[in-house]
Amino acid sequence: MILSGAYTCIARADEIHRRIGYTGGAFPLREFLRTEPTFELRAAPPGVLPEGADAAMRRDSAGALVLYNPRAPVQRIRFTIAHEIGHALLHHAGEHRRAPRRALPPREAKREDQADLFAAELLMPAWAIDRALPTDWREHGGAAVDFERQVRRLAALFRVSRAAMRIQLEHYLHLRETSLGLRAGAVEHLR
Ligand SMILES: [Zn+2]
Repeated sequence: MILSGAYTCIARADEIHRRIGYTGGAFPLREFLRTEPTFELRAAPPGVLPEGADAAMRRDSAGALVLYNPRAPVQRIRFTIAHEIGHALLHHAGEHRRAPRRALPPREAKREDQADLFAAELLMPAWAIDRALPTDWREHGGAAVDFERQVRRLAALFRVSRAAMRIQLEHYLHLRETSLGLRAGAVEHLR
């Protein structure tokens, strides 16, 4: 996704973190949903979700109903629920369908990317990853040495899949590099 919409996704996740006083670790998804009377979370009875889907979101006059597949692994359920919350907060579409991303028209594909970005930021924000990483790893760039070990450790800590954490940790490292680089560049420019 190009930057369009990305800041909105991050800002919405940030707003929620502040509102519920989240300070890191596994994001309390169910507790958050309990504070949101417009959201309802329900395990989908067999046959209700489209083939291959982990969750779906439906709107009605009362708000949004998120149905999830209770037989999926818990880490995947958490990410999918966060993804659907993203749709509910960011998009106005009625029912959300899941299809292979490459088969979607560009506008819908962009919405899927935005919902994924929101979910990643809600469940494993860059600042919480930063806090959870060992200091020496952060300062001496141990990334190459034990990247996979940190992926495993952080995935367990944040209760997400390793695949999702791997992407987010790479994103975090990239963010860290570019923001430090930008800062160094700005200081250089002032001299
Ligand atoms: Zn979606």
